[in-house]
This record gives sequence, structure tokens and C-alpha cells, in this order.
Amino acid sequence: MKRKLASIQTVLAIEPIANADAIELARIQGWQCVVKKGEFVAGDAGVFFEIDAVPPDESRYQFLWRPKDGAVRAQPANFRLRTIRLRGMLSQGLLLPLSHFPELPPRLPTGTDVTETLHVTKWEPQIPLNDEVDGPFLPGVPKTDEMRVQSVPEVLAELAGRPYVITVKCDGTSVTYGIHRHTGAFTVCGRNWSIKRGTNAYWHAAEKYQLEAALTQHPEMVVQAELIGPSIQKNRLGLKDIQLAAFNVYDQKACRFLSHDEAAAFLASIGVPMVEVLECGEAFEHDQTLLLALAEGFYGGTQNEREGIVIRPQAERISQVLGGRLSFKAISNRFLLKGGE
Ligand code: ATP
Ligand code: MN
Repeated sequence: MKRKLASIQTVLAIEPIANADAIELARIQGWQCVVKKGEFVAGDAGVFFEIDAVPPDESRYQFLWRPKDGAVRAQPANFRLRTIRLRGMLSQGLLLPLSHFPELPPRLPTGTDVTETLHVTKWEPQIPLNDEVDGPFLPGVPKTDEMRVQSVPEVLAELAGRPYVITVKCDGTSVTYGIHRHTGAFTVCGRNWSIKRGTNAYWHAAEKYQLEAALTQHPEMVVQAELIGPSIQKNRLGLKDIQLAAFNVYDQKACRFLSHDEAAAFLASIGVPMVEVLECGEAFEHDQTLLLALAEGFYGGTQNEREGIVIRPQAERISQVLGGRLSFKAISNRFLLKGGE
């Protein structure tokens, strides 16, 4: 499922903010967002922009970057909607009335993605890694991605009552290792492309864990991991050398992800570390508030805020809500408020 950076959403509730007479709090999906007082009542539709959305440089958004003196100026470089606190209230994203968008057809259903129609783009952190694109991603292997619980709150009901596992979300970059099912070549991929063999961190990790030999023995298995260490993102885990923390094992012959236990056993057998398990349980009953609380903390042995957690069933399941495997993330608001990416 792709993120909807701008979509039609219905206001679930409007709540007052203590000591504030110009603003109030709107609840949209699992998000909370500060709005102008009186602009919405519960049940109203609006256009909701998620954090990381970059609206175009148009007058209807200029209040977001206009200085206090009201002077009109261009959108600052690198502008994005962030997680902020207003009058002590967490505010994520932006909700604007439909009347600001005469170009949208009337009565669009809740959930309609208007990202492209409104020319909204996504802010991406710059990751200068010394990698060279070689070709396409491993064919037939799913790319790595996780949806935020606030954008798909119905996933909680899909997981309720089932055995689950919560892992720490490592802050590095995604890597996928496998034997190409057509060419038979050991292939190393980043988020979207395969990467040329060379002196880059992706291949360095492959050599460190002798993945070419291990996967040649098990050509159906694809290992997906976070590549972490010095010079990757901000190395918030404070590592001294390049490491892998694996979070998926995909069987490209059976076309399925291994269960948590199967993946743990396979990874142990080839000597690749797994992401840290924070919690494992037999019957999931967490709500969003609890998950967001669990998401907050430091990476072990550091004072660096961790990015968050990833939540899954112990055995693979299809999610109707996500239209794919049931798995989602909760990003730490403490991390986001400190400017995390
Ligand atoms: P967004 O979709 O929120 O804009 P994004 O597309 O950059 O952000 P991420 O926030 O990076 O996606 O979240 C998914 C990624 O998290 C995966 O691709 C994977 O590389 C990484 N990851 C790190 N730790 C884990 C973990 N424990 N379990 C699963 N994925 C993890
Ligand atoms: Mn994503």
C-alpha cells in the first residue's frame, strides 16, 4: 500500500485545547492535528496532508511559511510538513477545508487519494551512500515498506487476539540479498534497485556475513535487512562497523515470507543477526496509544531516540486493509519532534 500524502478524510472529533482561543484539535484516522477554531465540526470532510508531505508553492499554503509580519515569500527550500507541538499539543500534518480546493470534484469519498491532483510530493531524507545502480530489483521479490499505524488504524483489529511480535525499527537503509531466479547471480539490492558489486556498504556487508556462499546453498531464500553502521543515515545505533539486522526472509520458490520463528532459525543457521525483538506475545491487544508509547526509547547503549517499532503477526497473514501482508510501524513521536527523518 502506498502512502497517501494528501487525501479526503472525515473529522472524527474536534476537541478544545486548554488556554487556546484560536485553535482546536481535530482527529483524523489515528492522527491528531491542530486546526483553526470553528473551521470544522465532527463529520466534516477536509483535505488531510500527512507529515512529510510537501505542498506546492501556492498562496493557499503560504501561511505555513509566512513570517509573522505577513510578508509573502517563496516556499523555503526543503520545506515539509513536520510533527510539531502547538500550545503543548502534538500536531501532525495539516487539515484544510474542502472549500479551499474548488478544483476537486464534489463528494469525493473518504480516503480518496488527491496527492497527484494537488501536486503534493514527498520529502525524502538525503542519503549519500556510495552505491551504483546496476539494474532492476530482484524479480518477484516484494520491496520493503511499512505503513504507519495512524494512517491505517483498522490494522489493529486485524491483528487483535493473534500471536504477534514487535521489533525495534533500526535507522539505516534497506538491503535485499538473493540469488536471481533467472540468471542465478548473487544479487544485492537497495530500496528499489540492484547495486553494482564494489566497495560500497551493501557489498561490504554481504562479504562480512558471507551471504553469497550461504544463499548459494539456499537459492530460494532472500534476506531483507537494515544496513546499519558508520556513515549510514546518522548511525543512531552508535555502531563501530557495518552490520545487518534482518527483518524478512522470503522464499522466492514458495512465494511467501517465512514466519517469525522460521526466519529466526534460518538467519541463525547462516549467522545473520535479526532485528531486536522488543516484545512477543500470544494475543495482541494493544491500541495505538500503547504502541506509540512502546515506540519511544533510546537505541540500546545510546542516548539516541529510536525511530520506532514494527508490529506483525508471528505467522504471516494477509491484511484486507493493507492489500498485502499484515505488518505496520509505529514511529516514535519523541523521535519526530526532535527532527527525526
Ligand atoms: P514512509 O513510508 O513512512 O514515508 P519510508 O517509505 O522511508 O517511510 P520506512 O520508514 O523506512 O519507510 O519504513 C520501512 C523500512 O523500515 C523498511 O523498508 C526497512 O528497511 C526498515 N526497517 C528497519 N527496521 C525494521 C524492522 N524491525 N522491521 C521491518 N522493517 C524495518
Ligand atoms: Mn513507505
